[in-house]
Amino acid sequence: MHFTYYMPTKILFGPGKLGELIKEDLPGTKALIVISAGSSMRKFGYLQRLQGILEEKGIAYAVFDKILPNPIKTHVMEGAALCKEENCDFIIGLGGGSSIDSAKSIAIMARNEGDYWDYVGGGTAKGQPIPNAPLPVVAITTTAGTGTEADPWTVITNEDTKEKIGFGNQYTFPALSVVDPELMLSVPPKLTAYQGFDALFHSLEGYIANVATPISDMYALRSIELVNKYLPECVTNGGNLEARTNVALANTFAGFVQTESSCTSEHSMEHALSAFYPELPHGAGLILLSEAYFSFFGTKIPERFTGLAKAMGVDVESVPKEQHPQAFLGALQTLKEKCGVADLKMSDWGIQSGDIPKLAVNARETMGGLFEMDRYTLSLDETIEIMERAYR
Ligand SMILES: [Zn+2]
Repeated sequence: MHFTYYMPTKILFGPGKLGELIKEDLPGTKALIVISAGSSMRKFGYLQRLQGILEEKGIAYAVFDKILPNPIKTHVMEGAALCKEENCDFIIGLGGGSSIDSAKSIAIMARNEGDYWDYVGGGTAKGQPIPNAPLPVVAITTTAGTGTEADPWTVITNEDTKEKIGFGNQYTFPALSVVDPELMLSVPPKLTAYQGFDALFHSLEGYIANVATPISDMYALRSIELVNKYLPECVTNGGNLEARTNVALANTFAGFVQTESSCTSEHSMEHALSAFYPELPHGAGLILLSEAYFSFFGTKIPERFTGLAKAMGVDVESVPKEQHPQAFLGALQTLKEKCGVADLKMSDWGIQSGDIPKLAVNARETMGGLFEMDRYTLSLDETIEIMERAYR
């Protein structure tokens, strides 16, 4: 048994925690606040609350408000240019995973020359070392999905080359994260479901990954239990703060899982789908792939499915061991039904069945690293087979 545990982010967790930011030492004197192009950060007053806190602390700021749900490289470069122009010395990502991921990537490019794709690894990206440490990042999450507040990862799409690639290193952890479930009460049901399932898949994949550790397993199983128990309530009754808090906890735990373990090739396949079809929400893409993906791995590594089935509420003592993968898949299907996402189809987003081989190649070329995290190494044919079986 070997593992390294490194989790340098200070996390303020719990309802009302945004208000406590006032008491924190922030890592700079002028912030670039990064938010989405949508209206919700202003409509719900979250931006104004943050601005009020910064003003009270005597911290200046500029706002960059262009981030898309599937964030793109152009906005990373624009945000970094604004950061330099405004002489900001730290970045605050306020919003969902797209805004916080963009904040991390802007933090890199605000301190380094050239193009973001010079530093990313995979596909046509050049994978050069980053000469200067990124600016510090404060993450304030208003969704429970990507876990980015508790991991070093940022996922950005190069819209010119249709490559959606995850990137990060020991310097791209947020310095400080605020996880305040009160900010999540306003997330609409469908997005709540997609984001909750994203967190679920981070934990499921992190548990079956070949780099799982005793620590990641502990977080993964607990996180799966919490999503299974509380996500349906968040979807049907979004104002339930207790349920929101438990799914937020599951999501932060899933961030720890991604830090300690890794996602697997299911995420590579999803990134290909949403790189070519950017309207497809990441969590929805994972839901589309999941039945085919986990049933394939259920036959290859059944021993990892006892823990997963148990965490999904299956009474594993009363089910023969060889049926644990199937029992897990049944529980996953039930959760999808309870959350209203059991009937999603790739064709709903315009994906063509003839695209699958091209998408499988893209998944392996741009996010090939995650294929190495599977306990069974997929061939290209098997990748296509899984994606074709997921097609409806
Ligand atoms: Zn994800």
